[in-house]
Amino acid sequence: MRTATLTDVGEITVQEQNRPEPNDDEVLVEVGACSVCMTDYHMYHGTFAVETPMVPGHESSGTVAAVGDDVSEFDIGDRVAINPTIPCHTCSYCKRGETHLCENNTVLGGAGETILDGAFAEYIRVPITNVEDIGDLSFDHAALAEPLACCVHGVNQVDLEQGDSVAIIGAGPIGLMLLQTFRNRGAGPIVVSEPDDKRRELAADLGADAVVNPDNVDPVEAIRDAAGGNVAVGVEAIGLVPTIEQANEVTAKGGTTLIFGVPDQDATMEINPFDIYFHEIDYRGTYSLTTEDFERAVTMLEQDRIDADAMITEHISLEDLPTAFERMGDADGLKKIVEPGATE
Ligand SMILES: [Zn+2]
Ligand SMILES: [Zn+2]
Repeated sequence: MRTATLTDVGEITVQEQNRPEPNDDEVLVEVGACSVCMTDYHMYHGTFAVETPMVPGHESSGTVAAVGDDVSEFDIGDRVAINPTIPCHTCSYCKRGETHLCENNTVLGGAGETILDGAFAEYIRVPITNVEDIGDLSFDHAALAEPLACCVHGVNQVDLEQGDSVAIIGAGPIGLMLLQTFRNRGAGPIVVSEPDDKRRELAADLGADAVVNPDNVDPVEAIRDAAGGNVAVGVEAIGLVPTIEQANEVTAKGGTTLIFGVPDQDATMEINPFDIYFHEIDYRGTYSLTTEDFERAVTMLEQDRIDADAMITEHISLEDLPTAFERMGDADGLKKIVEPGATE
């Protein structure tokens, strides 16, 4: 089978590898679609360090091509979405349902302490606990179950009431999915700050009640104007300290600043503890997804609660990955879908 293997920083090699055999409790999935994530981008550029060689790709779906000896739940030909986060089910976090905080953090192709080969490949081995039946949902849409599940998880991290105001800083694919997820939960008004014209317009199309261009106006003032004051939830969906500070500046008393974007591991920021004390403003983190979030995300996609087509701007082959990373660096387009079976 062909894989797009990260062989060094800045080097993807499309190579021929043996098709893996599933273990007793695993299925082998022929990958139909794997969307490209900023995590893949950071692995490629070395800004998220990984041991090479490895196969990235963690937002995928496909068809069961072989089943292990102990598998009775799935058959060859079943269409599935793949949850890349593998819980150990034995640590205390897993037992509490906090599978994303598993002490034995293991991920298929994504960011984790132990990284197994991912889905930028024609086939991938997956434990049966990590596949979700998708019926006739398209592979493209099903590939978005993983990032959507992260958004479901993020929204669940916040104590949100219907009619609570939200500001989202950054309208990349994640910001746009968070927007739709917050809308599904009844939040409003929702204000989105985004400098890129196309992304800002799409945010308005997808239901933002107001959009602001931080290149033209002071985003903090503009968000307050649009929302009628500070917001219950200030969400940062980029991963930079200045925008986390913006999200916090617009968070109302008693509200929450949600850190969703992945900050640099060495980044630090100043916090005024008096503000946290006096205004009861929480900072919340949100990392990855639980098994439950993933199942819910698949359901939301099946029920069309998210405009998945609007999130996808191109289909590419394994060979196209390096140029796709270049375009991601320029914020060109939204989700790029790799079809590993396709060739140039
Ligand atoms: Zn991702
Ligand atoms: Zn665990």
